[in-house]
Amino acid sequence: MSCLFCRIASGEIPASKVYEDTDVLAFNDINPQAPLHVLVIPKQHIATTNDLTEADEALVGKLVRTAAALAAQKGYADRGYRAVFNCNAEAGQTVFHIHLHLLAGRSLGWPPG
Ligand code: 5GP
Ligand code: ZN
Repeated sequence: MSCLFCRIASGEIPASKVYEDTDVLAFNDINPQAPLHVLVIPKQHIATTNDLTEADEALVGKLVRTAAALAAQKGYADRGYRAVFNCNAEAGQTVFHIHLHLLAGRSLGWPPG
């Protein structure tokens, strides 16, 4: 298994986990870009958001709702947060296993760089 996030999901590589259930895992980003920077991933390998199918709709909803629940749990629901998927080169995707970045705790610029 060569995918980094599959290896984190299986427990082969350690991560600072903040939430886990049968379908999804959330862990702190190793190089945080905000006071809260969590990655929410499906345990199942999906390389990019281009590879999602109709069968994944509930799973993607769960990723988004998990991010919202974590933001609320950490006290950022009202202040605000950003939840974003990067897809492929121009968006800066470096790990090809989909992951929702949850960023909060500072004012986030728009448009993004
Ligand atoms: P991307 O650039 O693909 O959207 O985001 C990949 C993210 O994964 C980056 O924010 C990067 O810091 C994070 N990352 C890369 N390798 C590791 C790792 O081994 N552990 C953790 N926790 N995060 C990682
Ligand atoms: Zn994977």
